[in-house]
Amino acid sequence: MPWSFKLFEIAGTQVRAHLTFFVLLAVLGTWSYSQGGIDAAVERVVFVILLFGCVVLHEFGHAFAALRCGVRTPDITILPIGGLARLESMPEKPGEEAVVAIAGPIVNLIIAILLGAYLYLSFDMQTAVDFESVVASLPGQLLLANIALVVFNLVPAFPMDGGRLLRAFLTSQIGYVRATQIAATLGQGLAIAFAVLAIFAGPLLFLVAVFVFLAAANEKQAAAIRAFAARRTVRDVMITNLEPLSLDSNVGDALQLLSRSTQDIVPVLDHDQQLCGFVSRRDLERAFKRDGPARPISDMVEADIPSVASDAELKQAVDLLQNSEKHIVAITDRSRRFQGYIALQHVARLAAL
Ligand SMILES: [Zn+2]
Repeated sequence: MPWSFKLFEIAGTQVRAHLTFFVLLAVLGTWSYSQGGIDAAVERVVFVILLFGCVVLHEFGHAFAALRCGVRTPDITILPIGGLARLESMPEKPGEEAVVAIAGPIVNLIIAILLGAYLYLSFDMQTAVDFESVVASLPGQLLLANIALVVFNLVPAFPMDGGRLLRAFLTSQIGYVRATQIAATLGQGLAIAFAVLAIFAGPLLFLVAVFVFLAAANEKQAAAIRAFAARRTVRDVMITNLEPLSLDSNVGDALQLLSRSTQDIVPVLDHDQQLCGFVSRRDLERAFKRDGPARPISDMVEADIPSVASDAELKQAVDLLQNSEKHIVAITDRSRRFQGYIALQHVARLAAL
């Protein structure tokens, strides 16, 4: 994700924080400082950092459960509205998806139980039943926050973990696509309710509403694409007859080629007709303005495009597109000669038809 920074890495999973998370810390710290001085500011920032620590543990719950089903999690990103674990793919079997989904809330439940035990032992409940000071203490607040995380995540609607549980449960009865549509529509309904509540509760809830709505819509689309891809091969939908460029062309050659075509990207081939990568129309136009037509394209080629064979199942290409940050997959034959490409937006359009 752009504007995110690596914090550390555990068992092949990078933990990253988005820039906006630091903005959140700064805003909360400054606000608390203005209300109650430096002590209040430190207390607030420490609480938020510990809270997001619990969120990261929640995401690791998903990641380790997924690993048991053979699915890796390359990264977990901390955003102001929560954590986002990027799994390489979702486990296929509904039972496995349910296990991966429930593993996150179970982590928060365990944290809550441990904090409860700690509070029970450290406050002498027999003599001082001062419930308010227990709740106001840092472990008390974390306990409540973890219970809230369990409850919120178990709401049976996408993109919450409860939505995955609901889909896993419904899939055996009405099929994957219908089950996804129901869980995602519930999520979008909930998002609209959040947006209305945000009028009273403030802008952070509105942000959550927007995120929930878009993520639910995304799930619907992803399920439709998966159903579409199930019975097709890459060859059925790939975009062919693109005019290629050779690696020793310059920006002027490239723009001349593009002036008589509507394609937005150009495959760049070496002398053996093997794919080196792609250049985009936008990058070429920018380079033309800055450096003129003689600039070679060789240093502009986006080379790390994933590729699959033309007889591969479409599902393989879709998995690559949905779980990597690349927007296209190149299609090559057995000797890596360029055949065409697939973009997620094209597949999405076909799936919607
Ligand atoms: Zn979760």
